[in-house]
Amino acid sequence: MNRKYRKTIIAGNWKMNQLASTIKPFMEELKVNMPRTKTCDVVLCAPAIMVPALIRAGKECKIASGAQDVSCFEKGAYTGEISATQLADVGVKYCIVGHSERRQYHGEDDMLVNAKAKALLEKGIAPIICVGESLEQREMDLTMEYVAYQVKAALAGIDATQLRRCVIAYEPIWAIGTGKTATAEQAQEVCEGIRAVIRKIYGARPARAVSILYGGSMNAKNAAELLAQPDIDGGLIGGASLKPVDFATIIAATAQE
Ligand code: PEP
Repeated sequence: MNRKYRKTIIAGNWKMNQLASTIKPFMEELKVNMPRTKTCDVVLCAPAIMVPALIRAGKECKIASGAQDVSCFEKGAYTGEISATQLADVGVKYCIVGHSERRQYHGEDDMLVNAKAKALLEKGIAPIICVGESLEQREMDLTMEYVAYQVKAALAGIDATQLRRCVIAYEPIWAIGTGKTATAEQAQEVCEGIRAVIRKIYGARPARAVSILYGGSMNAKNAAELLAQPDIDGGLIGGASLKPVDFATIIAATAQE
């Protein structure tokens, strides 16, 4: 982390878990265990239907509400989709785009990820743009090449002012939900590489200010080591964000110097 130049963000990705009725007890347990922190933005990305309940319950803990996906279209005949305007209208502040599960199960490509990020930025919502390599790509030594390509594609046409609201999440696919975490060195290497890609496009200052998160089996035990890396500015957390005590421990790990 480097709090001098950029925001530290701990974002939970609940995926298709939890219920509106379980949010209140979750928040109560989180509140008891969570450190009071002004130096870290805490976000929970819930299924969209649960966002209003999350906002109501999250006020006291100062949790920002996030969504997990958005339509790239502004409005109209897109049954089942939710627009950025609709997310903004209920108070969503962050939204994940390009999660590997959406790429894998819904065929989302980099162009669509880019269009979704732009749709969010237009409505003042911060996109959490997910990138990351497969195990095959890592084994073939293609990690940085592939991740650099994804970052460039996701940011195409986004100007430096809009970049300030963007968050990048480096999530190696082989580490998501598998219990296999990237080592702190592996994660740092790629996050540093992502910042270098952004520096090439936008220059040193904007690159220095972008928050880059690590995601992939981050948990209460390994968070401190990952967050101690200079280019890792927080985490995108799946499984461990479903457990209030573990999630609170990860938030607490951002308090280290
Ligand atoms: C994720 O889905 O973004 C994620 C990182 O999941 P997990 O922490 O469970 O690996």
